[in-house]
Amino acid sequence: NYKELEKTLFSMDGKSYSAYKSLKGEYKFEKYIFAIDHVQSDPYAPPSKMRVIMDRKICGIPCELTDTKDKNIAVSDFLTRNFYREIQKSGNDSTGTGGSGRIFIDRCGQEILERTSVLIKGDKVEVRFEMGMPARGRRIMGKAAQKIIFEQLPEIVEKSIIYDNLNKKALNEQVILVLDQEYARKMLKEKGLASFVANDSVLPRESGVSDKPMKNAVKFRSPEKFEITLKLPSGKEISGMGIPKGITLIVGGGYHGKSTLLAALERGVYNHIAQDGREFIISESDAVKIRAEDGRNVEKVNISGFINNLPQNKDTRAFSTENASGSTSQAANVAEALEYGTSLLLIDEDTSATNFMIRDGRMQKLVVKEKEPITPFIDRVKELYDNFGVSTILIVGGSGDYFDVANHVIMMDEYVPKDVTEKAKEIAKLDENKREFSSNDKFQGVTQRIPLKKSFSQSGKLDKTKAKGKYSILYGKELIDISGLEQLVDDSQTNCIAVMIDYFKNKVLDEKLTLSQAADRIYEKIEKEGLDSISSYTGHPGNLALPRKQEFCATVNRYRKLKIK
Ligand code: ADP
Ligand code: MG
Repeated sequence: NYKELEKTLFSMDGKSYSAYKSLKGEYKFEKYIFAIDHVQSDPYAPPSKMRVIMDRKICGIPCELTDTKDKNIAVSDFLTRNFYREIQKSGNDSTGTGGSGRIFIDRCGQEILERTSVLIKGDKVEVRFEMGMPARGRRIMGKAAQKIIFEQLPEIVEKSIIYDNLNKKALNEQVILVLDQEYARKMLKEKGLASFVANDSVLPRESGVSDKPMKNAVKFRSPEKFEITLKLPSGKEISGMGIPKGITLIVGGGYHGKSTLLAALERGVYNHIAQDGREFIISESDAVKIRAEDGRNVEKVNISGFINNLPQNKDTRAFSTENASGSTSQAANVAEALEYGTSLLLIDEDTSATNFMIRDGRMQKLVVKEKEPITPFIDRVKELYDNFGVSTILIVGGSGDYFDVANHVIMMDEYVPKDVTEKAKEIAKLDENKREFSSNDKFQGVTQRIPLKKSFSQSGKLDKTKAKGKYSILYGKELIDISGLEQLVDDSQTNCIAVMIDYFKNKVLDEKLTLSQAADRIYEKIEKEGLDSISSYTGHPGNLALPRKQEFCATVNRYRKLKIK
């Protein structure tokens, strides 16, 4: 129990750092079990992994606040943020060499994600955190460790986990908010919408490096034509712009807020915390941002719907390259998104390859069809919706060609959206230099691909997959660059993808499952057994936040040694 731990810590004072290893185990404190799952090997190594395990009765959080998955996620998120805040308030700080003495918990951003940081399950509440075991040089600071574990930690736990000490109103509101957001997302389907943007939403962010809302931003206001009202489970009614399924074009002068609107729609696949400004910007949860990503690796992807008749007769039904061009990378991104499933594509001119997006009437006259391998997106976007049920919301500010195919045209005018559909359609009718449909075949859809086990054999069984920040993952010596995945929002999602890749290659891949099916297996497992279940650690599973299937598959697709059957 705790008395022994205290004694041991005092007696360790001044000993060599490795003695800390012997602390691994569980200790009974007054209100909780304190578990030391993993001890770092030196003060500079990643901090030691620990947990506090508390009886639900002692914690006191009412069952009705956690009796559905969505509620459970909302409460876990709330407790994680609380714990984080209490660490800051407690004055906990470095007390020696390296990360000595510091307590850490996974840091939440503006989104509310399913995480491993707090687990509420059965009659237990578990907090997973880390601690830098304190040292001076390589000598144990036993008294400092005692102080952190016996004074700081209990106070942090007391203030951040015990229901009676929580801001109950805020907790309750967060649960209600998540339920309302989930409901709104379900309503999209019923109302035939691709996305919804509530009036008074704040779209722009503080800066390129801060995801907090911009102060004094122009608040969102729906054009009358698209305004709808949603009645939410909380009783609240919210009005805003419902973007119908189909093809929606966003136009407007430079700097009028087009990209900001699209970026908000991209993030609308996630739920957001109160005061974020995007609480009720809601998109289909499988919406995928599509961009050009030149230089990426492509492995046997069927991009023939967009690119055909390449020089030297390269087959584009199973197209491979180690260095994709702007247009081929964008074509591959679309094809792959269709493979693992999406109902909404989001495209911004700022990050698109022009030759993938458009080819105007004049260019069609100059370069004959037979000499142009690209069927631009404009000639497929309607088929994608009509035959495959995939909507597109896209920004094209520099060409009116999309007027012909768009169902709706929204103009951003000084950050305010206006409906200009009628006007755009009239202009399109008058046009003399009309372009022609440039494809003589129908869009055939995509090909499901089966990843091979040998893709991962290179580095042997012992090689771990490891996240490096938000945008890269190391598999053995192979770096997977995922900086093109704009809908990835959290380092812990990247961590989770790394863990999922390990699970994928060791337990799921079988030469029969397609990438999409294999991914589904992993998500089914997580759904049934929880996010912990894919981690290879016992106790503290690491800081994981659930990514979407889209980002997981996209990461596998960017692995340069991926081999397809
Ligand atoms: P566009 O894509 O039309 O060129 P952006 O979306 O990039 O324009 O926006 C240009 C600038 O305006 C950005 O710095 C953005 O933060 C800011 N901005 C966007 N929307 C708003 C708003 N509603 N209120 C205030 N500033 C905004
Ligand atoms: Mg822009």
